[in-house]
This record gives sequence, C-alpha cells and structure tokens, in this order.
Amino acid sequence: MTETDDKKPRENFIRDIVREDRAAGRIEGRVHTRFPPEPNGYLHIGHAKSICLNFGLAADFDGLCNLRFDDTNPETESFEYVASIKEDVRWLGFDWDDREYYASDYYEKLYEFAEILIRKGKAYVCDLGAEDVTATRGTLTRPGTDSPFRNRTVEENLDLFRRMRAGEFPDGAKSLRAKIDMAHPNLLLRDPVMYRIRRAHHYRRGDAWCLYPTYDWAHGQSDSIEGITHSICTLEFEVHRPLYDWFLKELGVFKPRQIEFARLNLSHTVLSKRKLLLLVKENRVDGWDDPRMPTISGLRRRGYTPAAIRRFADLIGVAKVPSIVDMPLLESCVREDLNKTSPRAMAVLRPLKIVLTNYPEDKVEMLECVNNPEDPSAGSRAVPFSRTLYIEREDFLEDPPKKFFRLSPGREVRLRYAYFITCREVVKDPATGGVVEVRCTYDPATRGGDSPDGRSPKATLHWVSAAHAVPAEVRLYDTLFTKRDPNELEEGEDWLANLNPKSLEAISEARLEPMLAEAAPGSRWQFERMGYFVADTKHSRPGAPVFNRTVTLRDVWTKLQKTGRADG
Ligand code: ATP
Ligand code: MG
Repeated sequence: MTETDDKKPRENFIRDIVREDRAAGRIEGRVHTRFPPEPNGYLHIGHAKSICLNFGLAADFDGLCNLRFDDTNPETESFEYVASIKEDVRWLGFDWDDREYYASDYYEKLYEFAEILIRKGKAYVCDLGAEDVTATRGTLTRPGTDSPFRNRTVEENLDLFRRMRAGEFPDGAKSLRAKIDMAHPNLLLRDPVMYRIRRAHHYRRGDAWCLYPTYDWAHGQSDSIEGITHSICTLEFEVHRPLYDWFLKELGVFKPRQIEFARLNLSHTVLSKRKLLLLVKENRVDGWDDPRMPTISGLRRRGYTPAAIRRFADLIGVAKVPSIVDMPLLESCVREDLNKTSPRAMAVLRPLKIVLTNYPEDKVEMLECVNNPEDPSAGSRAVPFSRTLYIEREDFLEDPPKKFFRLSPGREVRLRYAYFITCREVVKDPATGGVVEVRCTYDPATRGGDSPDGRSPKATLHWVSAAHAVPAEVRLYDTLFTKRDPNELEEGEDWLANLNPKSLEAISEARLEPMLAEAAPGSRWQFERMGYFVADTKHSRPGAPVFNRTVTLRDVWTKLQKTGRADG
C-alpha cells in the first residue's frame, strides 16, 4: 500500500469539477451535496464510498452535505431501514446536523411542480397501461409512437390529474407523463412517466397519497428544493442526466449539476440491496449484520473500524470507469489500522495439551507480556504460566516435513514471553491413534523467552495456561462467494450457487488468556499469530466470550500486487 498523508484527500475528477465551478462562480459558488439512500435495505460498502465522497467534498470545500431519504417506493421502505442508515452514517464519522430530509416530505411540492408542467403543456395524463407505455416506446433503432392521449388539453389534463390524486381511478389506470419527444434518441426522454397510481401504504405518509412519483421526477426536484449544487450519483444515471436537466429547465427552478462516477464493485461479494435482502430473507446469513455481509453493519460486527473504511474509500478513488476492487485491499486497510490500535492477547483456537514434566505441579508464575509492540504507551500485562498448557494443534507435527520448524519430537521452540521447551514424548489415544498430549521439558534459564547462551529456536509459539484459560467460541470467516465476480453468470447459472459453503467456521473449543473473559462486546484485539478479532456484539457475554476474526495477519494485498494472485 502506498503511504499518503491521511489528512490530505486524494484528488479526483469530481473535486476538479467542484473547484472549477467554485472558481467560475457557477451554481452560486457554493458546495452543497447530499447522500440520498432509499430506505429499502441496510447500507453496504458501496454506499460508504458515496458517503465518504459526498460528506468529504462538503467538508473540504466549506460546504454542507444533507442526508436525504429517497423514499418514493412505498412497498419496500421502512423505519427500520431509516434507523439503520442513520446509525451507519454516524458510525462512519459523518454528521448531517439538522439536515435530515425525506423525498416523501416533498410530495406536495412535487405535485405542484407537476401542475406547472401540465399548465405549460409539458405533461399529460395518459390512459395507457404500463405494458402499453413500454410497448409504444420504440427501440434504439426505431422511434416510439405517440400516445393517443398525448394531445389532451391543459384543462382536461389538470382535471384528470386532480382526480387521479383524489383517488377516482384504479391503480395503474392512468399515469402522468412528460411531453418531450417520442422519437428522442435517448429512450428515457420518450415521454417518461412522472406519476403512477398506486394504493400502497407509505411508512411515513400512511395512506395520504395514492400517487407516487418516479425516481426521475422526484430526484432532481428534491435536489433543487434543497439547493444541492453537485448531485453526485453512480454511472447508470448518466443517461438520465438529460431528463434531470430537462425537468429543472422546464420548471425554471434552481439547477444543481449532476455528476456520475463508477460504483464500487468488490470481489467475492455482491453490492446490491436486492440481492443482500434475499440472503437475509432466505436465512443464508445471520441477518443484515452477519459478519460475512458487505454491509456497514456487517463490517462493524466483523470488527472493522470507521477509519479503515474511510481509508479504503480514499484509496480506491473515484473514477468514471467501472472496475472490481479486490477484497484484500479492504482487508489491508483494516489490518493497517488495527495493527496500530489493538492490544495483543494470546488465544489458542484449536488446543493441544502440553505438559512440562520438569515444572512443579502447583506452581504458577505471572509472566510479563507486551500489550502492543507498536505502541509502547500500551504497557504490559501479567499472564499466568503453569505446568499444563495449550498450544495450537497445528503448531505440532509428529513427522515434520523439512520446512516445519515448530514443535516436533526432540525439537526445542520458544513459548512467547515464557520459556524454551523441548518435546520429549507424545501421548496418543489408543483407540484413534490421535495425539492427545505432548510431554515437554522447559529450560528455567530461558525465562521471558531469552536464552543466556544465545540459543535461538526457529519458532515462537503462543500458549495459554490450561487451568487459567477461558473457554470461548471463535468464528473464522472466508469470502461470502467463491467466485471473484458473482454478478457475472454463465447462461442458466444461479448466483446463489456461488455462495461459499465454507464462509463460516465456528470453533467452540478455543482457549483464551484470562483477561479476555471480560472483553467488552465490540472490543478489538490481535490474537498473537492468529489475526485480529472482535468480541461479538450479538453473542459475546462476560465469562462466555464469542470472538469474530476480522482478518488474518497475512498481508495478501502486497502479494497480490506483486504476483497478481491472492493465493499460492
Ligand atoms: P443498490 O444497487 O444496492 O440497491 P442503490 O443505488 O439502489 O443501491 P440507494 O439507496 O439509491 O441504493 O443509494 C444511495 C446512494 O449510494 C446513491 O447515490 C447511489 O448512487 C450510491 N451507491 C449505491 N451503491 C453504490 C456503490 N456500489 N458504489 C458507490 N455508490 C453507491
Ligand atoms: Mg437507487
């Protein structure tokens, strides 16, 4: 990873545009952005990119950023989603002060705007059903055909539109359409629908409305009402921009500038609320905040820090060209942050019993362990050491291959902050032949992990004292999907079939050093040699801790940069 000054944001084409607009005094020379989520799901890491961009621009150019709920689809929206979105934006470190707005508060204003267009002869009530509207729209190579209702008089349109609002017509029986050009090269400008009749209960407006505005009709006008100067959105809205501009021009109201950028795609996961919702609904994951989810709440539960996500958003930059960012980059961001901030601890995930035959039966020593080698001010702590210990099962091999330097018969290794030990005997289960205990001797002259005669074993292992260790559940994660791009499917391929069946491994037999018994839910640690872990906010209890692995210690990103491959 390249080092950049954390305080200085990276340049990008949007910042250039904003700077030029300011210098030229365009759009009143102000900078006012908005983050406009639809409350129909939890936010994901892609939204984090947009949040960092919008709030970041406002902060860097003395401007403001609004939080606006783009809530125009009654069927899918809810207060639960609103609450989660607010929590996530705040957690990421951004503040909208009192500028919390809702498109659903603009329904009256949008309705007035619509009447203005009708009066100008720029909108009409159409009796074609949704299917007929689509069928008469034409194609890229063939113009559409005019609706038979296109030439209604202003009076007739006003009357019908008011009666639509009053609930005189059934759902779908009529729509309000902009009168633009049925042969326009951009299909979106072929008399687009502005309002549909839909008797649906809205979570905020209840049953006050049976007309709902389309995205295209609501979005630009909401931006204008709020005095947004730069309306930043993802690339798929580039083709909508002429329509965005057309509505504002015809209304003669304040006109923000829409700027598009490429949405974030992240490898081995999906960033679509529709797909994420399905995973939740079908119980493929443990809710929106499952630590495997790319949601902000999932990343939080996984142990990610707001700083790591902001850093990621800065590193990936903002561009016009779609691409897929590899997951290891995100992981390297959280690793870098946690390395500086998380206290170290010893935890044995899959225990193997070690008995030190020459260590007194009932002796317990308190050994000093450094809390964070990266941060001397973090100090040290005392950890109990005794005759019976656990080490990681994978740190012992009876028949080691050439490059295995950890414990094996006759081999001496260092126990971190403790002693050198030498393997003398292997005890097996007579029934299975599996190793159940390894008997070792320790060298009392190596207390603290240093030898007076300069001996230096090739391996240093972490450990816990069996009698003092805290049993815990530890959860390890792999990517949610096995495929790098789960959105790109072969013909007939089901995207759910690429879910990784091994994305979660729950280990119930872990043994932790004593202080971790009381680890506060949400607290983050480095377990020596095993990775960064967080005490689970949903399931961890004092005395019965549950930990999620945030990320391993291995920097896959650097390897990927060098070899183009994350594995091998
Ligand atoms: P989804 O495709 O997940 O349903 P959406 O665009 O429908 O996303 P919104 O709630 O409308 O979700 O998004 C709010 C804002 O976040 C929009 O400005 C949108 O452009 C932006 N956004 C959504 N997904 C991404 C992404 N993957 N990368 C960057 N910005 C995104
Ligand atoms: Mg959207």
